[in-house]
Formats: sequence, structure tokens, C-alpha cells
Amino acid sequence: MDIIKELGDSRLYNLHSHTQYCDGKARMEEFAEAAAKAGFTHYGYSPHSPICVESDCNMAESDVPVYLAEVDRIKRSAYGEKVKFYASMEIDYLGNHWGPAIPYFQDMPLDYRIGSVHFTPNKHGEFIAIDGAASDFIRKMHDYFSDDIRYVVEKYYEQVHEMIAAGGFDIIGHFDKIGHNGSHYAEGLDHEEWYNDLIDGVIAHIASAGIIAEINTKAKKVHNRFFPDERHWKKVVDAGIPVVVNSDAHHPTLINTDRDYPLNILDGLRGL
Ligand SMILES: [Zn+2]
Ligand SMILES: [Zn+2]
Repeated sequence: MDIIKELGDSRLYNLHSHTQYCDGKARMEEFAEAAAKAGFTHYGYSPHSPICVESDCNMAESDVPVYLAEVDRIKRSAYGEKVKFYASMEIDYLGNHWGPAIPYFQDMPLDYRIGSVHFTPNKHGEFIAIDGAASDFIRKMHDYFSDDIRYVVEKYYEQVHEMIAAGGFDIIGHFDKIGHNGSHYAEGLDHEEWYNDLIDGVIAHIASAGIIAEINTKAKKVHNRFFPDERHWKKVVDAGIPVVVNSDAHHPTLINTDRDYPLNILDGLRGL
């Protein structure tokens, strides 16, 4: 599916959102109602995918058919007459044995796929969630990563590169997510030269792979940060990467949160 073409010139859309089957805070129908009320043209559900390690945030494999049936029901409901709904997943990448490219996800009848890295392996090969509260991250840095922040950041971006190379997805989710917790652990880390070099490498890889990048607005209100960070938007646009602006909503009141600002900046960068 050509997502960019589907969206046309609409500004009222969201392609990254969560559900009761993962860590979303409301039922899918409540998100559908909110999307219709807000005058959205397009709305994609993207629960955290089933995963091969222990996780409270991810969907159970046994819920996948129920989830897909619920998207179908919503597509055919009265909301579906107003809004175009999509079945997607935010698929975790955990190495070549688990990620968007594996047959399990490729064979799933999804309208499009989001690939995201939320887990980074430590030196013993254990996958550790690097997302979530900064206080947890700081504890994990000590417990699992011997307080080696550069190792974690470099390993995170290594995972991002591997995921892009493996392919099988349309949109890369919040590609610099580690910048947030990383800079909580070591202030200013995400402004250092080596870090910016890592970002430039990822942007070049995304461009050559021909995938879409998102600007993720979920953390703007609470942490005053977009993903990717606003400093990188011009580079992303200049690299010719198609960009969508997603709220990564976990609650129906947040489906359109903080989207206007990046949409306006993108217009400026594109010379519109
Ligand atoms: Zn995510
Ligand atoms: Zn998400």
C-alpha cells in the first residue's frame, strides 16, 4: 500500500496508535469514535506486536485474530463511513530471528507495518527494554549494561540499521528513541558529535531503503521532545524521506496531540 498516496493532502490522520490488546488505555472503538469526532480522514491501529521475550506492553499471539477481526468490524461500522481505518502493528525488532521481516509478520494480513526498536541486547545477548521511565532506564544501565551508555546507544542504532536492512515494513517508528533516555542518563549526550554521526548514518540508510519516517509527537507534552528530535527534521526532508506525523496515541483524547506544529514546520521545509 502506498501510504503517502492514501493520505493525499490530509492533515487529520494518525498511523501509529495503541489498543486494549497491548498497553493502550481504551478500547479500539473509543479511538474510532474519537477519530470520527475529530474529523480524521485516516486512522491506523498499530498495537505493540507479539514478541519473543517477556513484555507487559506487547500483544499476546493468541489475541492477533481477535484484534484483526475488531479492525474489520470497525472498518464496516458507521465510523468506517467517515474515517478510513487500517490494521497495522508496531513490530519489535530483536535481531534477525524476530522482526517485521519474518514470515509470521509478513503473512499477517496487515495494511502496512511499522518497525520499531524498543529493546537493545546487552553483552550477554539479553534483550533489555530501553524505552519507558528514565528512572527505570538508569537502573537498567547499572543492572544490565555496566553503566556503559555509549555501548547502549551504539547497540541501539546497530539494531535500527539491522532492522532497516532486513526490511519488511513501511514506516520506521521513532528512530532516535534512545536519545531521550540516553540524555537523561548523560545530559547533552545527544548533542555530541559521535551521536550526531550515528543519526546521520541512520537517515542515509532510511533514505536509501525507501521507507517512510514518522515524526512521533507522543512525548512532546510530557518530555518536550519529538522523535526524531526537531534538530533532525531538515536533514530527513532534505534526504528525500517521506514523513508522516503520528501521535502514537495510547488514549483517545491524544490522537491529534501536538501534530500541528510539526506539520507546519514540514510544510516550510518542503517549501509549501
Ligand atoms: Zn514505540
Ligand atoms: Zn507506539
